Amino acid sequence: MKNLSLMRLLAYFSGAFVLYPSALHAQGTPPPDHPAVTVKGQTYTPRSILARNMGTEADRVTAFPPHRIIGNIYYVGTNTLSSFLVVTPQGNLLIDSTYERNVPTIEKSVTQLGFRFSDIKILLGNHAHGDHQEGDALVKQMTGAQVMAMAEDVPALQAMKPGGKEHPIDKVLHDGEQVTLGGTTLVAHLTPGHTPGCTTWTTTTQEGGKTYNVMFGCSLRPPAVLTPALVDQFNRAFKTVRALPCDIQLGDHGAQYNMQEKYAKMKDASLNPFIDPATCTLEADVEEAMFNAILAEQQQATRP
Ligand SMILES: [Zn+2]
Repeated sequence: MKNLSLMRLLAYFSGAFVLYPSALHAQGTPPPDHPAVTVKGQTYTPRSILARNMGTEADRVTAFPPHRIIGNIYYVGTNTLSSFLVVTPQGNLLIDSTYERNVPTIEKSVTQLGFRFSDIKILLGNHAHGDHQEGDALVKQMTGAQVMAMAEDVPALQAMKPGGKEHPIDKVLHDGEQVTLGGTTLVAHLTPGHTPGCTTWTTTTQEGGKTYNVMFGCSLRPPAVLTPALVDQFNRAFKTVRALPCDIQLGDHGAQYNMQEKYAKMKDASLNPFIDPATCTLEADVEEAMFNAILAEQQQATRP
């Protein structure tokens, strides 16, 4: 029995080694197809969540129609990798450069919306994985933007050097810190676990004479192996996210907020389909259920 437990534990650890590079590069061996959790009638496994987030290779590099989400907030990313433009009278902020090869695609989307890429003054990030922040050096090179990063993600960002380029970091942020430009303030909330400095951004925006709370969620996707330190981090993140004010939930992958369905509804909706407070914690519900299921499986496997 002991040997069997040991083998199962080893299987989890080897799972971690294949998961980590696949999360970074979205290639290679997919994460395990267990455990399965069902939330609001939909069943998820680690593999199905990653597939949902990343889509196909083409999805990752093909521009999704750039669009205004609400107020001064626009989508300029690809089919599956989010990039958000926040427009102010004193220049603009960009959240997530995604892959370096996507930067010209993001530039084109910004231009299509009638804005200038060179007006990006501040570049922020969701978390230090290549599919969200690999292009930071190129964005900085093209715009001169100030690059700001959560302290806990700085080591991982510094190790991210596409083509040997140093990862620019002009300002190190800490939990709760505010970033203000042209009357718009974004607040950086540390929601660690997926990466140590995973950052959920919040801001407010106006539309139709009303003020709305916008939350740019960080990934809450747990890895295949949960160490005690990671368990603490994820518990902190779930608690933080659930307490944030939210009328519009966004995420680093469109699938985390049903972007494609909401966008499709925009054409004839009299109400903005992105205003959806009822679904603000859906992604946290899915990932917390998965986190608990992985933890339970892991405890089962290590039980003597
Ligand atoms: Zn990631």
